[in-house]
Amino acid sequence: MGTFCSVIKFENLQEVKRLCHWGPIIALGVIAICSTMAMIDSVLWYWPLHTTGGSMNFIMLINWTVMILYNYFNAMFVGPGFVPLGWKPRFMFCFYFAAKENSQDSMYLQYCKVCQAYKAPRSHHCRKCNRCVMKMDHHCPWINNCCGYQNHASFTLFLLLAPLGCIHAAFIFVMTMYTQLYNRLSFGWNTVKIDMSAARRDPLPIIPFGLAAFAATLFALGLALGTTIAVGMLFFIQMKIILRNKTSIESWIEEKAKDRIQYYQLDEVFVFPYDMGSRWKNFKQVFTWSGVPKGDGLDWPIREGCHQYSLTIEQLKQKADKRVRSVQYKVIEDYSGTCCPLNRGIKTFFTSPCTEEPRIRLQKGEFILATRGLRYWLYGDKILDDSIKEGVSRIRGWFPRNCVEKCPCDAKTDQAPEGEKKNR
Ligand SMILES: [Zn+2]
Ligand SMILES: [Zn+2]
Repeated sequence: MGTFCSVIKFENLQEVKRLCHWGPIIALGVIAICSTMAMIDSVLWYWPLHTTGGSMNFIMLINWTVMILYNYFNAMFVGPGFVPLGWKPRFMFCFYFAAKENSQDSMYLQYCKVCQAYKAPRSHHCRKCNRCVMKMDHHCPWINNCCGYQNHASFTLFLLLAPLGCIHAAFIFVMTMYTQLYNRLSFGWNTVKIDMSAARRDPLPIIPFGLAAFAATLFALGLALGTTIAVGMLFFIQMKIILRNKTSIESWIEEKAKDRIQYYQLDEVFVFPYDMGSRWKNFKQVFTWSGVPKGDGLDWPIREGCHQYSLTIEQLKQKADKRVRSVQYKVIEDYSGTCCPLNRGIKTFFTSPCTEEPRIRLQKGEFILATRGLRYWLYGDKILDDSIKEGVSRIRGWFPRNCVEKCPCDAKTDQAPEGEKKNR
């Protein structure tokens, strides 16, 4: 019992650590500023609490804050759900595979060396979480956690509620500034005074609206409008894929599948296997009344005519294809691994890829397999010799293109990595 309690305490402590990251600090800061300012502005300057409208408005503001924080913390602390360490595919799903061993199932799946487990369908290994995440959508720095199977609904609800709350707050800010500025401007102009603000001035604001309050309200308005636009867009993107029962990663896999089929002029059609056929059915897969999504996050219902492993088989094909299409480079100049290197030219400096993906340190004489690239940057895997291989499975990331040159041995496969190929 004692150990059980200490395990729980330890895990809780680990979870609380998620808050110590720029994402949650900024997100919670914005929520705190917008909701506090909206409440202060409504009570002190715009809509007094003793009126029915004023109290309704105030209750609504509290309501937004509570609902936003509830879904935010749910998304953060419940997390996406991880594939159990050491997971293997269970015994068969389809009757015509019933006779086969489950070891044959595993040949359709990729293996994760870190988790020592097969990657269940729809799961991906997240390098930040350092675990395989069930139905991974993306790693979200704002919740400092992955968005996936278990928190897809609460995450999306947060994306809906945050803009709605911000629109309400923005309305309060604009009205506060308008009525207060109007009072001030019309103060000296007795002759031209249009008294539409009489209702607002009676009773007079408890505290005069000073320059500091004006600046704070304007700042909060900026935050609220920015959040509305940025988060609102994310909400529409999420809804679009949820209604197709997809994740961001799967949309990308599907795009690459079409690309691969076109590239090799294959007579295949890739059908996304998890689309339940109607938007409502897809919606219900993610959103349920209990808040717990359907299924167990490992086995997924599939549409008719698809194989349980249609998607993972496609992923394996893409992986093999990537190996074929990657280009080998030799490092000709050292690179320290900094994001924006000063000594690699101005174009390299300013075009550093805007991702959280790592940069890799390069040393003259090393070899790299590049899989994609931008004009001045390449992304690839270091080809490790056996002495380094112990302990690390792979070193991959971005590096400046002008630190490397294409290997002469590879010159015949004169194929540009992905970035340029897209222009075809
Ligand atoms: Zn993993
Ligand atoms: Zn993650």
